[in-house]
Amino acid sequence: MLSFVRVAIDQPAAVAASAGTGDGLYDYRWTGGAIEVGQFVLVPFGARTLVGLVVEINDTAMVDAERIRDVVARVDGLSPMSADWLALTRFAASYYHRPLGEVALPSLPVPLRDASRYALSDPSEDGVSCSATLPSIARAIKRSAKLAAAAVPADAGKEAVALNPMQAAALGAILEARDSPATLKPLLLYGITGSGKTEVYLRAIAEVVAAKRQALVLVPEINLTPQLAETFRCGLPGARIGTLHSGHAAGERLHQWVLAHEGQVDVLLGTRLAVLASLPRLGLIVVDEEHDASYKQQEGLRYSARDLAIVRARQGLAGQAIPVVLASATPSMESWAHVESGRYRKLVLTERAVPEASLPTIRLVPTQRVEALHGLTEPLRLAIADRIARHEPVLVFHNRRGYAPVLACGSCGWLSACPRCSVNAVFHKSDRNLHCHHCGWQHRVPRACPECGNVDLSAVGRGTQRVEESLRALFPDARVARIDRDSTRRKGSAASLLDAVHLGDLDILVGTQMLAKGHDFRNVTLVCVLDADSALYSHDFRAAERLFSNLMQVAGRAGRGGARSRGAEVLIQTRSPEHPLFEALLAHDFDRFAATQLADRKAAGLPPFSHQAVLRAEAPRASDAIAFLAAARTEGMAILDAMRVDRGVELYDPVPMSVARVANVERAQLLIEARARPALHAFLDAWLGALQGRRPRLRWHVEIDPLDI
Ligand SMILES: [Zn+2]
Ligand SMILES: [Zn+2]
Repeated sequence: MLSFVRVAIDQPAAVAASAGTGDGLYDYRWTGGAIEVGQFVLVPFGARTLVGLVVEINDTAMVDAERIRDVVARVDGLSPMSADWLALTRFAASYYHRPLGEVALPSLPVPLRDASRYALSDPSEDGVSCSATLPSIARAIKRSAKLAAAAVPADAGKEAVALNPMQAAALGAILEARDSPATLKPLLLYGITGSGKTEVYLRAIAEVVAAKRQALVLVPEINLTPQLAETFRCGLPGARIGTLHSGHAAGERLHQWVLAHEGQVDVLLGTRLAVLASLPRLGLIVVDEEHDASYKQQEGLRYSARDLAIVRARQGLAGQAIPVVLASATPSMESWAHVESGRYRKLVLTERAVPEASLPTIRLVPTQRVEALHGLTEPLRLAIADRIARHEPVLVFHNRRGYAPVLACGSCGWLSACPRCSVNAVFHKSDRNLHCHHCGWQHRVPRACPECGNVDLSAVGRGTQRVEESLRALFPDARVARIDRDSTRRKGSAASLLDAVHLGDLDILVGTQMLAKGHDFRNVTLVCVLDADSALYSHDFRAAERLFSNLMQVAGRAGRGGARSRGAEVLIQTRSPEHPLFEALLAHDFDRFAATQLADRKAAGLPPFSHQAVLRAEAPRASDAIAFLAAARTEGMAILDAMRVDRGVELYDPVPMSVARVANVERAQLLIEARARPALHAFLDAWLGALQGRRPRLRWHVEIDPLDI
């Protein structure tokens, strides 16, 4: 039987292939047996063969019948992608203004979209139909038994922890939401650190799994928290738990993906990319630490996994919405505003789950006109010595890695800089190299100043390596370790450092925000923050939100251990103790902080009270990038004029990015701001179409809802 299939392919529309529709979809002829929407096919594309996804089937050719080519083979051995999944990727394509093929295909594991890995069958009698299979898919499906075997037996007889009344109420609300899809709102599970949010959503997941549905749990980071999968296994006896994250090798990721897709996984635990996983029986989505910036993809399709999770839950399963739970101790301003407007429902946990565990006391330690030894003021030194004597581990938070942010020459003023970027090169003492944290450039530290020959170069400022060294000098008998991206390159090394804290094998752990990512330290009673100031006066309107959340998370590591945690303290060194942000922080009052933030943003017309996009251009010469954006702006203004009504869309002047040059590429951007989302997207549709038509000779992209501008 002859039919015409419309196929999504991950290729720019400009490349001539089979007849295309201009939106990244291409038509092919299919004369084999049955074929369904959602099936994969191998198709010719130029001189190559590519994997594509069937998104439509027609009886007649819809475009340019002359140029239509034949499907090479239909992929067998894999269930078709569901209509729900296709609807989700269609939404993402339209919202982020990208062709469907460039959204749907890249979300799949690499081997699945690599045509060269497929084995082709001989054409059947009719001479046309041909099928392709991927041997590793069959292997993955065979492995499902292994996954089931890894589950903790359902009758493990583990005593369930009793929920406190607030936890029980939150759980009740989630289950009630599940049972009334018509009135379902996204749920914001807002609980202070240590209030047992995980226990609440684990119980909800257990109910969902018992009803033969799947749960998707998104977390910011899996590699850092290997105990997480263990917590899930123990908390969900009998459940088959899959994981999906970028740390998997390609083959393992394929296996996990296929098992989730074939319904062999009950709970899928993953990082942001898992939001686009195929889950045919999906019944619940949880986004843990929903405020975390890592949910925003920073390249390719620049999506927000949290926002897509909301959409996915609303689209639901076969047209019926499913609950989505956003969990956080410091929710994003976006989610908070949705609660205030009534679009989301807030579930609150205000007590620590471990009996008698109390919130730590937060104290500010002013650094102006105070002498500091190795960057530590006396109150910090005394407090650390005191905890070491009591065998209670101390966490020292410093959000800057390396030894010193810059090397300087005292006689001529030379500063170490990356030759490829417009930033300083950071001095790392561990390998005596200068490192660029933006492009990865490394170079041996010069013996003398390259400008004037002065041999006396000084390290200015401090990073975690220097803090570690200082602590060793100040506390020579203490066992000190450091956790940051440099010290944890080896797989599992982060986990073993964190374990050492749990076991009491460490006295002091120095680290970046890796320290703060949800670890449940029962024995930590002191957290020190060396420098909170750099973020206080940032020009980025989200800096305060990020700092507050970071400090709350770090502070939340202290005092989780029941009665012994009384007296737990957080000491924050700052030059600006009078800053309004601290007032709310000292009171552990996120509500007050959020109210102030939102009032400020509303007054300034900033998100979430406006909607933003940025158009970015990259070129070897800054003037080319700016010129492209300036021309784009002129064109945009004309389009806005032609739309005639005042839609409240504003185009700002093009400006270089705050770090303008990275790896010898100059980057500039233009901010688009709108009062209403529909107006923004209507404008972008028209504008981006026009820009594509001009085929500019530089790299450019648009980002919707940017986090950094
Ligand atoms: Zn010099
Ligand atoms: Zn660089």
